[in-house]
Amino acid sequence: MIQTRTQAKAGVETRGMVLRLERSSIHDGDGLRTVVFLKGCPLRCQWCSTPESMSSAIETAGDTTYGTVMTVDEVMAEVRKDVIFYFHSGGGMTLSGGEPLVQPDFSAELLARAQGEGINTAIEPVGPVQTGGTDSSESQYHVRRLQTY
Ligand code: SF4
Repeated sequence: MIQTRTQAKAGVETRGMVLRLERSSIHDGDGLRTVVFLKGCPLRCQWCSTPESMSSAIETAGDTTYGTVMTVDEVMAEVRKDVIFYFHSGGGMTLSGGEPLVQPDFSAELLARAQGEGINTAIEPVGPVQTGGTDSSESQYHVRRLQTY
């Protein structure tokens, strides 16, 4: 489903597991941005506001499906729709999640493609932080730091 760098070199189109795309965000970097929420996170924070992003697999709950396999081309087609707004607001594309670095090849290609088109890019990786204690599941929390990439 999510292909490897070797497959990419062999000409297989890069695919990733996307939770959702959010347009016109003003909270994930400068200006108006399209946020690409990627599925998959190594942490299990009890307070997670997007628990549907934890698993790397497609999930369903009732009538709702969480997760879509998308190619880089498909994501970029959505991101490109707001180029004019990025230009006027200083915005661009932000990768978030979940943990975008769980899908390194997909994330790297998205960032490279956006940058190649002159679209500003940022990434919101999660950084596990040890806060003391002996139980790692209780003593870790995440810091999501926006980084221009
Ligand atoms: S790091 Fe963020 S996305 Fe991952 S489980 Fe914790 S709150 Fe949820």
